[in-house]
Amino acid sequence: MQEDKLIKCRDAGGMMETRTGACKFCGQAAVEEMPMEWTQEDVNEYVTEICNCDSAAYYQKKKKQKERAHERITFLFGEGNQLEVTPERAENLLHEVVELVGDEEIQSATVEIGNGVKVKIGYTIKENIKITRTKAEKSTYEE
Ligand SMILES: [Zn+2]
Repeated sequence: MQEDKLIKCRDAGGMMETRTGACKFCGQAAVEEMPMEWTQEDVNEYVTEICNCDSAAYYQKKKKQKERAHERITFLFGEGNQLEVTPERAENLLHEVVELVGDEEIQSATVEIGNGVKVKIGYTIKENIKITRTKAEKSTYEE
């Protein structure tokens, strides 16, 4: 979320200035201290995140769900994870699936990564993005 970026920038001693942005949905403007380095797009994104209109609230919810799911993918399959090495492009595909599920363009997708590892990413009844990683034990052996 932009708010995290703003706090990070401010805490790191980044230059701040008064910026004006508008909600992407209702157009309501807000004036706040934001990082100087932000583009107008970043500014509008931040204002959209803090806006109270219904469309912005829905957008914020979706965005948070997606961010959590992306973090989960990185935790499970990203560099330095404890489980196993996932090729970078395969990890990128999982992130792409999170976007599609989060935007409700698809309901779910299952990716077989190999070595019996399957990842299912889909929407739950509670409207959360669920990531299930399963590893099948091999019961048959090829000679
Ligand atoms: Zn709004």
